[in-house]
Amino acid sequence: MEKREQLYEGKAKKVFATENPDYVIVSYKDDATAFNGKKKGTIEGKGVINNTMSNMMFRYLETKGVKTHFEEQLSERETVVKKVEIVPLEVIIRNVAAGSFSKHYGVPEGKVLAAPTIEFSYKSDALDDPLLNEYHALALELATKEEIETIKAMAFKVNDELKAFFKGIGIDLIDFKLEFGRFHGEIVLADEISPDTCRFWDSVTHEKLDKDRFRRDLGGVEDAYSEIFKRING
Ligand code: UDP
Repeated sequence: MEKREQLYEGKAKKVFATENPDYVIVSYKDDATAFNGKKKGTIEGKGVINNTMSNMMFRYLETKGVKTHFEEQLSERETVVKKVEIVPLEVIIRNVAAGSFSKHYGVPEGKVLAAPTIEFSYKSDALDDPLLNEYHALALELATKEEIETIKAMAFKVNDELKAFFKGIGIDLIDFKLEFGRFHGEIVLADEISPDTCRFWDSVTHEKLDKDRFRRDLGGVEDAYSEIFKRING
C-alpha cells in the first residue's frame, strides 16, 4: 500500500491516506502527553513498541472473534488499518480500582472490583473528555442504541480475553481504554492497545508497567514499556 498525504496528526500518531479509500496508514510517534495534553514529553522507542504490541493484540483478538481495524504492519512504526469513522466515545473497562475511579469513588488503588465496570467519556479535547452515560450518548447522537449494545459486548469480551492473556505472562490488567469505529456500517475495534492506554501491574510485585510512570513522574518509563513488550514476546 502506498503512503500518500497526511490526513491528521494526533498526540501519539499521524494518519496518512493511501491509494485505497478504505485504508489509511497510521504512524506511531514517541510523543507522550497526559492530563489532556497539559503534560508533554517523549518516551524513547514508544512508537515502535505501541505499534507492534497493538498489532499483536489485535491479531490475537481477531482469533477470538473480535473484529478490529488491523490490516497489515508495514514497518516498526507504520501499520495499514481500515479507514473507520471513529465513534466519539472513550470506552473504559476496569477490573481493579485506580486513577480517576479511585479518586471519584474514594476507593484505594489496587482494590479488586467485585465486577468489571464500563464507563464512557465523550471524546472532546475542548471539553476535557467529560464522562457520560449511554443515554447521553444516544441524546447527543454519538452512537445508536444498537451500536452501544455492540460496543459494550465487544468491550467486555476484549476484557475477558486480555485479562487471561496478560495473566499468563504475570501481568494484572487493571483497566484500559478502547475506541471503536464504523467500517461499512459495522462496529470494529480501533485505535491501540498499549501501555499508553492500559494499566498493567506486575502480578507479584504490583510494579506499574504503563504510562502512569510518565504521568506520575515515577521514572523507568522506557524500561516499563520494554518489559511489557519483552513479556509479550517471551
Ligand atoms: N485512558 C486513556 N486515555 C485517556 C484516559 C484514560 O488511554 O484519555 C486509559 C488509562 O491509561 C487507564 C484507563 O484508561 O488505563 C482509565 O483511566 P482513568 O479514567 O483512571 O484516567 P486517569 O487516571 O488516567 O486520568
